[in-house]
Amino acid sequence: MGSSQELSFSPKRLEGKVAIITGGASGIGERAVRLFWSHGAKVIIADIQDAQGRAICDQLGDPHNVTYVRCDVSDEDDVRNVVDLAVDRFGGLDIMYNNAGVMDLAGTTSILTLEKEVLERTLRVNLVGAFLGTKHAARVMVPRRKGCILFTGSATASIACMTEHAYVASKRGILGLAQNVAAELGTHGIRVNCVSPYAVATNITKGVVVAGVAGDDEAAAMESFMSDAGNLKGVVLKADDVARAALFLASDEANYVSGLNLVVDGGFSISNPSVTMKFSEMNP
Ligand code: NAD
Repeated sequence: MGSSQELSFSPKRLEGKVAIITGGASGIGERAVRLFWSHGAKVIIADIQDAQGRAICDQLGDPHNVTYVRCDVSDEDDVRNVVDLAVDRFGGLDIMYNNAGVMDLAGTTSILTLEKEVLERTLRVNLVGAFLGTKHAARVMVPRRKGCILFTGSATASIACMTEHAYVASKRGILGLAQNVAAELGTHGIRVNCVSPYAVATNITKGVVVAGVAGDDEAAAMESFMSDAGNLKGVVLKADDVARAALFLASDEANYVSGLNLVVDGGFSISNPSVTMKFSEMNP
């Protein structure tokens, strides 16, 4: 029997751990960078937005524990380099968070007109990028027989019809990759999990809902629309909510959690209100 003492955890839930967060220069990744760092992790921001990435480091003002590295996740040399840098500078890699992603909103929502190039570009960043991050993280984690690999999936991997095909294909690919790799790397003591959000107002979702609205108003309009369309009422999903789910999976509190798709969607992907709505229309 464990004592209550054994159940208590440090308030700094990632003390001493080394994390790479791809796509850490903005949105969900940026919030995860700040949260992981505040919980004692040494964090490498791996992104292609140099100015934003460096600005976060300057703001945190802690050059020993947070650093920015330019890394295109679809380029194997870049990914190899950032993983090697974690080992050289910080002595190892505990958490690889494959979060970078793109969504082509200028594209079509119809399979009839979806361009092959759009599909390939989306898969290259979202799926190939996640694959490369996983492969190179595993390269340095397997010999140490420990580590944690995370992905930002999407609720679109659990329910159809939310957005365009290329993005959905990439996110379902990530989920399959994560689960298959969890089975392999579990034998080496490495945990592999997915965090799958519903919709958050970030750069990737700009223009999703309202054309002609900009800046804070656009974010507010997007949040209001998606909150209304969501299952859990009275709550707006924020990047911080997703970052907190990632923090749990990255921490020792999730010591025996692997192969999980932690869906942060307020129950959206398990609900289908269409019958209820139809019924209400017929019986006003
Ligand atoms: P975002 O645009 O703010 O962040 C994406 C980050 O990925 C950016 O910093 C961008 O520079 C980086 N990136 C893009 N291509 C890259 C590349 N080739 N190499 C390295 N970095 C690259 O959007 P976000 O919403 O924070 O997206 C983060 C993740 O969350 C993505 O995987 C996205 O698919 C996923 N997601 C977002 C939502 C949402 O509603 N915002 C919902 C579900 C899943």
